[in-house]
Formats: sequence, structure tokens, C-alpha cells
Amino acid sequence: LNLHNAEFLRSAVKESDFPSDRLPQVVFAGKSNVGKSSVINKLLGRKNFARVSAQPGKTVHINYFVIDRKMYLVDLPGYGYARVSKAEQQRWGALMETYFALGLLTVGIQIVDIRHKPTRDDVTMADWFRASDKPWIVVANKLDKIKKSQLEGNLAEIRQTLLLPAEVPVIPFSAEKGIGRDEVLAHIYGYIGK
Ligand code: GDP
Repeated sequence: LNLHNAEFLRSAVKESDFPSDRLPQVVFAGKSNVGKSSVINKLLGRKNFARVSAQPGKTVHINYFVIDRKMYLVDLPGYGYARVSKAEQQRWGALMETYFALGLLTVGIQIVDIRHKPTRDDVTMADWFRASDKPWIVVANKLDKIKKSQLEGNLAEIRQTLLLPAEVPVIPFSAEKGIGRDEVLAHIYGYIGK
């Protein structure tokens, strides 16, 4: 898989916007500011890639990218932004409902902040992945911001709070330092092939 061969496809907001071919869909989710774009850019080895189509203030949407014509990178809208309206939250929920009901997900990548206990919104997102019955991994980003001595405790708290099944790995990651990239890619390749 040539990760550099990545291009924006479209923003999806309604059922007919979602690709219906059988290319695997690798789905990224995380609360706003957790570093989702940074993680995606680090994985792809690109700068500012995941921002190509960022449209702040526009309606909640799901961004589709095509990687090497072999997989879709699906960028779910960031959640849990403090100033978001009730109506906006409802649109987020409705969009998740639409996407997950289509059963298009191949593997989920949930990004959380390794420094903090997962939020209620993180738990809600984890519930969506768990209910999908598809493989899912948790990427604990901003590893460079904690002390080594905090690592095990924080990972355990993430696992417990998100109620992760034993088979869901939690991978310490730093988009800043490039730590964890190979491990995340190995999991993705394990599910979709290389
Ligand atoms: P998004 O809203 O989830 O897409 O988050 P961004 O990728 O825009 O990142 C939000 C902020 O966190 C930016 O200031 C990034 O530079 C910073 N950030 C992202 N990943 C890391 C990381 O691994 N370590 C540190 N220290 N900062 C990070």
C-alpha cells in the first residue's frame, strides 16, 4: 500500500454520498483537538493532508480519502467540542447512525488523549465501535506529554473507561514524535492486507 498516494474524494453527509464499492474503510474518530489530523498525517507521512478539505463552521460531515486506490480513509467529524450546539450534537449522532447502519466500516481507529480519562463523548464513540462488531483499535495520542511513570496507569484507565474488549489494543502514540506509527500500521495492514 503506497500511503503517499492519497487523495481527497468527497465529504459525505447523507446515505447516497457513501461509497458503495467493497474497498475496505479504515475509520478515524476522536474528539476535537485530540490530534486526529496530526495522527492521520503522521501515518500517511504527509504534512497538512487531513486538512485539505477542512471546512470549519460547515455542517457535520465525514471526509473520504482514497489511499492507493485500495482503501478508504474515513475521517469522522471530531466530537465533544465545548461550544457546539445541541442541534449540532444531534446532527453528529444522526450521521453516526447513518454511517454505522450502512455496515461499511472495516476497522475503527479511535484516537484518545493519553493524558486524560476518556470523556463521555469518547465513551459514546467507543459504544458505536463496539456495537459495530468490527475490529477496532485505540490510539492513545500525545504520549510525549506524560511521564513514563504515568503510562501503565493511564492506559489501564483508558481501557476501563471505554470498556474495551480484551482484543482491542491501546497503542501509545505521539504524532509529534512519530512514536507508535509502525504498530498502528501493522494493525491496519493486518486487517486489510498490505
Ligand atoms: P484534531 O482537531 O483532532 O484534528 O487535532 P490536531 O491534529 O489539529 O491537533 C490539535 C493540537 O494538538 C495541535 O496543536 C497539535 O500540534 C497538537 N498535537 C497533536 N498530536 C500531538 C502529539 O502527539 N503531541 C503533542 N505534544 N501535541 C500534539
